[in-house]
Amino acid sequence: MTNVAATSPASEPHLAAPDEHPSFIKGLFLGEIREDLVFPFPSLSTAESESLMAILDSFRAFAADHVDTRRHDREGRFSEEMRSAFHSIGLMGLNIPEAYGGFGASAAVFNRVFGEIGATDPALAVYFGAHQSIGCKGLVLFGTEEQKQRYLPRCASGDLVAAFCLTETGSGSDAQAMRATATLGEDGSHYLLNGTKIWISNAGYAGLFTVFAKVAVNVSGTWKEKVTAFVVEADSPGISLGKIEGKMGIKASDTRAVHFENVRVPVENRLGEVGLGFKIALEILNSGRLGLASGSARGMRHIMNEAIAYAGQREQFGQPVASFEMIRRKIALAAAECYAADAAWMLTAGMVDRGGIDFSLETATCKVFASEASYRVTNDALQMAGGLGYSTEFPYEQAVRDSRIMLIFEGTNEVLRALVALMGLQQPGERLKALGQALQDPIHSLGAIGSYLAGRARNTIDRPDFTRVHEVLEDEARLIAGQVYALARAVESALRKYGKRIIHRQYVQERLANAAMDIFLATATLSRATAEVERANGDVAAVAAELDCARVFSHMAYRRTRRNLRALRTNQDARLDAIAERAVEAGDLAPPAPTDR
Ligand SMILES: Cc1cc2nc3c(=O)[nH]c(=O)nc-3n(C[C@H](O)[C@H](O)[C@H](O)COP(=O)(O)OP(=O)(O)OC[C@H]3O[C@@H](n4cnc5c(N)ncnc54)[C@H](O)[C@@H]3O)c2cc1C
Repeated sequence: MTNVAATSPASEPHLAAPDEHPSFIKGLFLGEIREDLVFPFPSLSTAESESLMAILDSFRAFAADHVDTRRHDREGRFSEEMRSAFHSIGLMGLNIPEAYGGFGASAAVFNRVFGEIGATDPALAVYFGAHQSIGCKGLVLFGTEEQKQRYLPRCASGDLVAAFCLTETGSGSDAQAMRATATLGEDGSHYLLNGTKIWISNAGYAGLFTVFAKVAVNVSGTWKEKVTAFVVEADSPGISLGKIEGKMGIKASDTRAVHFENVRVPVENRLGEVGLGFKIALEILNSGRLGLASGSARGMRHIMNEAIAYAGQREQFGQPVASFEMIRRKIALAAAECYAADAAWMLTAGMVDRGGIDFSLETATCKVFASEASYRVTNDALQMAGGLGYSTEFPYEQAVRDSRIMLIFEGTNEVLRALVALMGLQQPGERLKALGQALQDPIHSLGAIGSYLAGRARNTIDRPDFTRVHEVLEDEARLIAGQVYALARAVESALRKYGKRIIHRQYVQERLANAAMDIFLATATLSRATAEVERANGDVAAVAAELDCARVFSHMAYRRTRRNLRALRTNQDARLDAIAERAVEAGDLAPPAPTDR
């Protein structure tokens, strides 16, 4: 066991510090539109754009020769030949810094490539993502120079495939409840790692695991369990793998349990300080989620393109299926959602690349929206293909199965919505608390009261506004800005009504999160479309396709936001609660039907 006094003070070089690093979505909860974070829409330099095109060309050439997603789905495994060809094109080191043998790609480039892989073979994207987005990301962000030199060059070449081991049987969404332990050996040279991690992507391919386990630490005479991160070589004695999990989709990605039994992990392999493991895991997942968003966005575009081609040539009632309005609506909404999903991840990748910005809620939003849109759109594509859509001879059913996982891993969408709401509520909550305290001692707190009242007065008189959206989109900008104001008011009244109890009010959290997420997504489309209008020197006809998507999405987001915020006041929550409680208690969804009696 480790005594905390023996460890150096925690240093957190990469961990988000929200007070110093601004966040667009957190600003929304305060009624602020931090335009400098979302304008101008990011773009690649010419050199970066050229190298991205070269990478995509090289991946497409490789995929044409080696990737058969249907076969991977059938066989549930990648061939060694496919994997080594994939490694040989250099993508395993795409976002590993050049100093350690990687390509050092920006978040924009990395995630665009992620999207291409996702559209080609989602299982391969999971292989790529489990390795780089989460498997060896901890080393890149938190590794010591020695650790990086030791492992990253082999990760970059693909000689060491990495995996991320957080989940356990009893701890999924509640990762802190993990039971794996790491106990410092008597001579202090190593830890003994014990426990079982489940659902580990790449487990069977991996040479290196990033593992999270609890280390007992003595804090002022009391022993506490502190989550700590380690890099563990997969061939260490005491490691064994479970059987390959049978899964609904992404079958070739190799998901298994990993058992650790008295595995000796040298102290040099601890990642970061004792006790920083949970924050390290969150930081890794924060950036990792962006890949799932770009993969989902490109994936939905790919399968819908297949469905559009089919619907264009398939005739029923003497006309192409694509000419029916119920089908056209599916196509158009998918286009608008794809536009928004792309705009959001690209805007967020720009924040990651700028540095110094807290992007945790933005990456969560990108993942939640793109995964749900992708599942919806993929389902619509299947529907457009009719009976063929259901056939295993065609790609639609696999696309539906493959896309489903995106709503579950790297933080389920429920948990991420709660994260967006609760993190967003933090600053307004602190302001109100400060006001509450100030009101108890008004003489000494005139400053706090004054600045709060000034803020409120400003809110009441000057509603927040967009100043950098192109004038052709001013109607949409006005609608969305109005919802920022409405959100901040709703946040304030929810905090006054529930106080700390808001932590347990998920009906409220979900609505606030949905509103904030929709506002961010709409803002991303407005920023993207503005950049396109400016690039076209104001020739709106030339960018009509962009403008239509941005407008349709913004109006949808506006209507949903208004609905969500209104439902905070008028809703059926008490009845929903009663129904759910009855169902859980009775173990039966609904009252008996007349035919059951
Ligand atoms: C194919 C696949 C690959 C995976 N790869 C990896 C990997 O590489 N590494 C790794 O560590 N893990 C991995 N996982 C695990 C994955 O991250 C977890 O499955 C996920 O975090 C959910 O945990 P759980 O399955 O225990 O579900 P639970 O946490 O038990 O959740 C069950 C349901 O309850 C909901 N829920 C839970 N808590 C709350 C709450 N507070 N509020 C509202 N709803 C809540 C959830 O959203 C979900 O709908 C993988 C899983 C799968 C299926």
